[in-house]
Amino acid sequence: MNCPRCQSTQIIKYGHTHYGKPRFRCQDCGRQFVEQATRQPIDETTRQLIDKLLLERLALAAIARVTGVSQRWLQLYVNQKFHQIPKAVEVTSKKKVD
Ligand SMILES: [Zn+2]
Repeated sequence: MNCPRCQSTQIIKYGHTHYGKPRFRCQDCGRQFVEQATRQPIDETTRQLIDKLLLERLALAAIARVTGVSQRWLQLYVNQKFHQIPKAVEVTSKKKVD
């Protein structure tokens, strides 16, 4: 791990953030930072690919392997998606009743 400001490797642990993530401090320039390796944003291309694979009814573990995202992230993503569908159906059916 390197310091994001000066690229030094003289990094020490420096407590935790409010979210429980370990915080680090550069001994060369004094910069404090949180390691970001575990939470990389998933880009739009990957999300579109995941949507296609979900339509093919592949197992989540297989989709995670193919696209390189974590199974944990994928599960959250799927939960969000399926959470949105019933709401849309509900709105449509209400209009028909009225
Ligand atoms: Zn530094």
